[in-house]
Amino acid sequence: MEKILNYIDGEMRAPSSNKYINNYNPSSGLVYSLIANSSKKDINSAVDSAKQAFNDWSTSSKKFRHDVLMSIADKIEENFEALVVAESLDNGKTESLARRVDIPRASENFRFFATAILHFSSETHDMDGKALNYTLREPVGVCACISPWNLPLYLLTWKIAPALAAGNTVVAKPSEITPMTAYLLSKICIEAGVPKGVLNIVHGLGSEIGDNLTTHPDVPIVSFTGGTLTGQHIAKVTAPMFKKLSLELGGKNPNIVFDDADFEKSVSMAVKAGFSNQGQICLCGSRLFVQETIYEKFKIALLEKISELAVGSPLDNKTDIGAVVSHEHMTKILSKIEEAEELGGEILCGGKRKILAGNLKGGYYLEPTVIEGLSYDCSINQEEIFGPVLSLLPFKSEEEVIMMANSTKYGLSASIFTNDISRGHRVAAKIKAGVVWVNTWLLRDLRIPFGGMKQSGIGREGGFKSLQFFTEPKNVCIKI
Ligand code: NAD
Repeated sequence: MEKILNYIDGEMRAPSSNKYINNYNPSSGLVYSLIANSSKKDINSAVDSAKQAFNDWSTSSKKFRHDVLMSIADKIEENFEALVVAESLDNGKTESLARRVDIPRASENFRFFATAILHFSSETHDMDGKALNYTLREPVGVCACISPWNLPLYLLTWKIAPALAAGNTVVAKPSEITPMTAYLLSKICIEAGVPKGVLNIVHGLGSEIGDNLTTHPDVPIVSFTGGTLTGQHIAKVTAPMFKKLSLELGGKNPNIVFDDADFEKSVSMAVKAGFSNQGQICLCGSRLFVQETIYEKFKIALLEKISELAVGSPLDNKTDIGAVVSHEHMTKILSKIEEAEELGGEILCGGKRKILAGNLKGGYYLEPTVIEGLSYDCSINQEEIFGPVLSLLPFKSEEEVIMMANSTKYGLSASIFTNDISRGHRVAAKIKAGVVWVNTWLLRDLRIPFGGMKQSGIGREGGFKSLQFFTEPKNVCIKI
């Protein structure tokens, strides 16, 4: 069985413990590879290697770093199909989604930040000709980049690329639930000629090696994407060490449909926002608020559209909904559906596990589920479920829906559907979220500040915001 090894000091290495964790294929429920179960010793070797590499990499020209990142992007594209298959096999997502979104974005992340660093600039502040301040932007050091399982290569490269472009070296810790494409990326980096130690990728359990990495005294900066509870823990353990921290955490995003919206478009978008990647995108619109004047008509159209979604093998091009990521996650989602029923919610469709035939019978498939009749402030409408589950809620007025939309502890994203431009602006201004879409969902421009308010995170990623995070400003004042 294939062993997923660490990438340390420019080479593939077995974990020092020589122990491995089972890696499951969510579409069949079977173990198909083994993951390095790394320990503190491996984290220490990776950090040492990144520290050794820092001097040369951080003082290399921007053009040199640009060329290295571009060459990684080229190799990702050369290995495109292999990465698509691997991402789907490891995560349960459909191959079509990995082909359309995950893998193109991974190479785009490298291209985007390879060129962004060439355009990155800093400020000068002239003191009426008496003195001049200029601000240097220096790489911070060895960065810890920790990523989740829902968009494995997409989110890992979204951190690694700007960190490296800015002149830092990196120790990355991909999710132990979906490590395969990070492993393939290690091999790609070797082929692409990434200097040794510049990027290190260590596999293993976050609960075991996470603290070793985030609290390592030689790691001054941590970029984390994952659950809010893990983010809280990282904030707590790193605070006494005053590390630079970027946290991209959970969401419980409202999708708001007014009665003047384009009906067909808002129904289609509600389905897309609810069920893409089996509802396992932090930006999914899992709370669907529909104005009461169109609520019944909308509900019928929504359920009809959902009935057309095919749950099936991730390899099949006709499949819309593949497997959720793990048995544990599937059980959690099912228990949330049960909780919704106990709270008086009515399951309008789905609500159950779907057993497929043949070698897929052990796979983690769930029917797309819509629940109605729950109060906006019950646990199901307040806590992230992160699965193919939509909660449908009617609303009367703008004021009421803004209150309900803002009622959770999260503030990641929101979508508003309306043909009244003034209403679009007005509601967008009042929503407490880092990202608000009007008449669309998940339309991403890599230059925008991306991130959440409240317990959805700290800081912003994207474009020059990422490069600012991965550099330290140093002001130099010259008396004239
Ligand atoms: P998670 O928090 O369980 O794990 C994320 C990563 O952290 C994994 O690599 C894990 O191994 C590691 N980790 C676990 N414990 C750690 C510790 N003590 N110290 C350091 N690292 C540790 O999250 P998950 O289940 O993999 O991902 C799903 C969550 O991610 C959802 O809440 C989702 O909303 C969120 N997410 C947020 C964004 C965003 O941009 N805001 C994007 C994608 C996913």
